[in-house]
Amino acid sequence: MRYDIAIVGSGPAGLSAAINGKIRKKNIIVFGNENLSNKLVKAPSIDNYLGFYDISGDELKDKFKKHIENMDIEISTKKINNVYAMGEYFALMSGDDMFEATTVILATGVEYGKPIKGEEEFLGKGVGYCATCDAPLYRDKKVAIIGYNKESEEEANFLNEIASKTYFIPMYKNEGLMRSLNDLDSSIEVINERPIKIQGDNLVNSVAFKENEIDVDGVFVIKDSASPKALVPGIETDGPHIKVDINMKTSIEGCFASGDCVGKPYSYIKSAGQGQIAALSAVSYLDKLKIEQKKQQK
Ligand SMILES: Cc1cc2nc3c(=O)[nH]c(=O)nc-3n(C[C@H](O)[C@H](O)[C@H](O)COP(=O)(O)OP(=O)(O)OC[C@H]3O[C@@H](n4cnc5c(N)ncnc54)[C@H](O)[C@@H]3O)c2cc1C
Repeated sequence: MRYDIAIVGSGPAGLSAAINGKIRKKNIIVFGNENLSNKLVKAPSIDNYLGFYDISGDELKDKFKKHIENMDIEISTKKINNVYAMGEYFALMSGDDMFEATTVILATGVEYGKPIKGEEEFLGKGVGYCATCDAPLYRDKKVAIIGYNKESEEEANFLNEIASKTYFIPMYKNEGLMRSLNDLDSSIEVINERPIKIQGDNLVNSVAFKENEIDVDGVFVIKDSASPKALVPGIETDGPHIKVDINMKTSIEGCFASGDCVGKPYSYIKSAGQGQIAALSAVSYLDKLKIEQKKQQK
């Protein structure tokens, strides 16, 4: 099955793209998470979303959920690891699964912190962003998971079934941290220190902290949003952001982007607005394709 529009991300940008695509009767699929967006649920009070003064992120999330449920929009909780432009369509990879779509809207958000030293240098040389995809490469080897969210704990447990030794380095703070870390398999070693550098020669061989190092064969950095270049090979970027024009078109034909991933200001309402533009641009692209195909058939 080939979708008209695949939307990667379930924050305000992705959901706004989804409702607008659906209103225009396109066959859509949305990838994201059950909570919609960690950045949304974390906001204590939001004063700049028109129509909802002093609303908490959690309340706004519930309103978004109700909205998409009323429109029969479901979210696939599969994480997309790569998006490949195949010419006439896009292939979206999630582990061993592949989804096809004629257009793609990237609405992945952005990781606010800088990458760890060595993270980008060793990407694909021992550093990965998806433990469940690359786990077989680390059978009986030593791995570290640098986790920026709660979902990373699940990936650590999964890897621990395969690896000979698993380290978990939590990069997030929350009241429930100690409780939540109890979900980790007891044989996983938790390191409560910030890593300074991922290092190696050709391949990763260790992670350095302020005063010590651990020897590892692989490092998984589990974030809400991976770098756009790692997600979509060949896409043009400007620093951490995807380059787009005023219609939210990226440098790749048929691929659009919106929200935090295309630049500042980082805001809910801007993201939702751009999500709408991206969806309408995708619709207009699909409509033009249809006309061209009809002409060719004559
Ligand atoms: C604590 C806090 C408070 C804030 N307060 C405000 C405020 O008061 N007002 C305001 O306007 N803004 C605020 N912001 C900023 C706001 O959260 C962001 O601008 C907004 O969430 C961006 O929306 P987005 O849709 O672009 O991305 P996000 O909300 O980041 O959503 C992206 C979603 O895509 C998912 N995703 C990413 N990659 C993939 C993939 N490969 N496959 C599947 N899913 C994927 C992520 O898991 C996430 O769910 C706040 C941010 C924080 C952290």
